[in-house]
Amino acid sequence: MRKRIVAGNWKMNKTRAEALALVAGIKAEVAALGAAEIVVGVPFTDLDVVGQALKGSAVQLAAQNVHWAEKGAFTGEISAAMLKELGVTYVIIGHSERRQYFGETDETVNKRTKAALAAGLKPIVCVGETLAEREGGQMTAVVERQVRAGLAGLQGADWDQLVIAYEPVWAIGTGKTATTAQAQEVHAFIRQLLGVLAGAAAAATIRIQYGGSMKPDNAKDLMSQPDIDGGLIGGASLEAKSFADIVRGAL
Ligand code: PEP
Repeated sequence: MRKRIVAGNWKMNKTRAEALALVAGIKAEVAALGAAEIVVGVPFTDLDVVGQALKGSAVQLAAQNVHWAEKGAFTGEISAAMLKELGVTYVIIGHSERRQYFGETDETVNKRTKAALAAGLKPIVCVGETLAEREGGQMTAVVERQVRAGLAGLQGADWDQLVIAYEPVWAIGTGKTATTAQAQEVHAFIRQLLGVLAGAAAAATIRIQYGGSMKPDNAKDLMSQPDIDGGLIGGASLEAKSFADIVRGAL
């Protein structure tokens, strides 16, 4: 049985005071919701205070990116060890916004994923096709390329730490959610591919989240699909009640 995992991606939102208010609200809302893993992905500048605020709670802390080098002359970058020190457990890697605006490639996704794993962080690796790719009949080819290249070289226990987020780019922040059938189809495809890459036993345990305009009113249906093991939530994670309502959909 895969434990569902619901992760908020706050993106570049929330100053320190706003972050503390939101996390207090989330803690109050989800205190009794133990059946799913709950994660908040906060800006680098909020990691320290939010990490402190989450001490003793079941809510886990995620960063939104990580550099692949251990240290060195990489101005503006943050290493996996620096994140670990702040109590980070998960790190979102290869989000479509990073691919679109910041030159993220399958190769850099792979380097970040390996660096995260080497430091004991759990990667949430994002994949997903654009609307043009879907309409051009390239959906599965794109997702397969992103999964194969992004996860190249993972082995053994690495697979146990991995979470994949399938996020069709056309559904992110647009209010257009994939239908449950559309999402399940791709999730099943990814799981079958993981079987080839990691073996059947590992593939059966790796969590695959759906992301893309997941809201309280569609979360339960999406997460009741056999291969959808949770959600990566953007907009609806910026408010404690809507985030908690999505978590309730995972129970
Ligand atoms: C995201 O950015 O990961 C995301 C899923 O955003 P939204 O929920 O706002 O579509």
